[in-house]
Amino acid sequence: KRPVHIVGGGLAGCEAAWQLARRGSPVVLHEMRPTRGTDAHKTDSLAELVCSNSFRSDDSSNNAVGVLHAEMRRLSSLIMGCADRHQIPAGGALAVDREGFAEAVTAAIAAHPLITVERGEVAGLPPEAWDSVIIATGPLTSPALADAIRARADEQALAFFDAIAPIIHFDSIDMSVCWFQSRYDKAGPGGSGADYINCPMDKEQYEAFVAALVASDTVPFREFEANTPYFDGCLPIEVMAARGPETLRHGPMKPMGLTNAHNPTVKPYAVVQLRQDNALGTLYNMVGFQTKTRHGEQTRLFRMIPGLEKAEFARLGGLHRNTYLNSPRVLDATLRLKAEPRLRFAGQITGCEGYVESAAMGLMAGLFASAEQRGQAPVLPPPTTAHGALLNHITGGHIESLEAGPRSFQPMNVNFGLFPPLDANPTRDAEGNRLRGTQKTVAKKQVLAARALADMDAWAKA
Ligand code: FAD
Repeated sequence: KRPVHIVGGGLAGCEAAWQLARRGSPVVLHEMRPTRGTDAHKTDSLAELVCSNSFRSDDSSNNAVGVLHAEMRRLSSLIMGCADRHQIPAGGALAVDREGFAEAVTAAIAAHPLITVERGEVAGLPPEAWDSVIIATGPLTSPALADAIRARADEQALAFFDAIAPIIHFDSIDMSVCWFQSRYDKAGPGGSGADYINCPMDKEQYEAFVAALVASDTVPFREFEANTPYFDGCLPIEVMAARGPETLRHGPMKPMGLTNAHNPTVKPYAVVQLRQDNALGTLYNMVGFQTKTRHGEQTRLFRMIPGLEKAEFARLGGLHRNTYLNSPRVLDATLRLKAEPRLRFAGQITGCEGYVESAAMGLMAGLFASAEQRGQAPVLPPPTTAHGALLNHITGGHIESLEAGPRSFQPMNVNFGLFPPLDANPTRDAEGNRLRGTQKTVAKKQVLAARALADMDAWAKA
């Protein structure tokens, strides 16, 4: 068999390679690092996590990304398998030791007899001799390849900016001020209910902090960046602060579900949460504190936070580019470029958002390419599954929805809004009691989640 060439050894590319190789297809995986780096990657490992170490909620009973995790496990995902093996405590979330995780993926890929890893940039459209290609080069696709794709897709590829959050050395955090607690003491898998470090603020400290953030010096946009919008799920903290003095207290700094262990009778006015970033517990990242303020400013601003007065930063926040296709217009239902079907796309470049979503779209691209190589027509997952719902969002497939329309196409995390609605929403619980308020929303999500997993089971079996 001729190999499938995969460009990009990130989350999507590694998952696609694994799925192909599991089904007996030879793969050549092209990764440009360390020959050429990106603005965010720091190592030469495959599947490096460039910012947070969280795969978000692992609850498959009523959370859309939790459902995506569960579906991927059913499809023998390499990324989920390695994440599960390198999990560290994070309440109800699936967080991983980033180095252990990336090393495990790299080792699994290197050890597979059907996968060859070639280090080096693919600096233009892949050679015509490669008749089956998966392009999974991510939000930081090298400019030479991005320009070639833009020209070939005959469509202006879009770009926008996300910001990344700082990471702090644990031993520089003042634990006589901060305390360990997960919100509402929620203990996720392997967690204790006390997985986050919390830094309390009173009203005066909060107001001074917000004022300083709003007045802070940010990194200016370069000319070509000036009109690129932010992705709403990853707004820089200073942009949120500028939306109004209360915005942060209702967002990443909300004090709900937390009691100051050093002063239990006084409710904090706002709380900054830090999440464990490595298995050793020596590093913590600032939850929701992605920022584009200047590095000098960041140290000054974040040391205003009680408990972080002497914080030492392992990494400061920053800005990054995001390159993605206008996929509903340029890709077909199995992620192939309509203008050149030998080129299939996977991962964040297709317009999904997030580690898990990117890996999931790598998984799909791998399955589709494998079916094609065996002369079979790829079978799409049902739109009621998390994979099917995401694919529909990206390709503008069988659900006609506003989000999927080419004009409003925006990268998106998986969410229940992308799933086809239920014929009838639940109104009563198992005991026959009438559901009220948020109970109804939770019950609806539970039914959507159960439907997704049942439909995925049937599809996977088929
Ligand atoms: P990547 O994981 O980036 O993999 C692409 C690979 O392709 C890279 O290894 C790159 O070196 C390689 N490559 C690029 N061009 C070429 C070329 N021409 N030839 C050969 N190789 C090439 N998501 C989250 O869920 N949580 C976060 O906290 C988060 N933070 C982010 C922070 C930053 C700075 C960025 C850029 C993105 C962030 N994302 C986050 C979004 C996204 O989920 C990740 O970028 C994710 O890694 C995307 O997976 P991918 O496989 O599509 O791309």
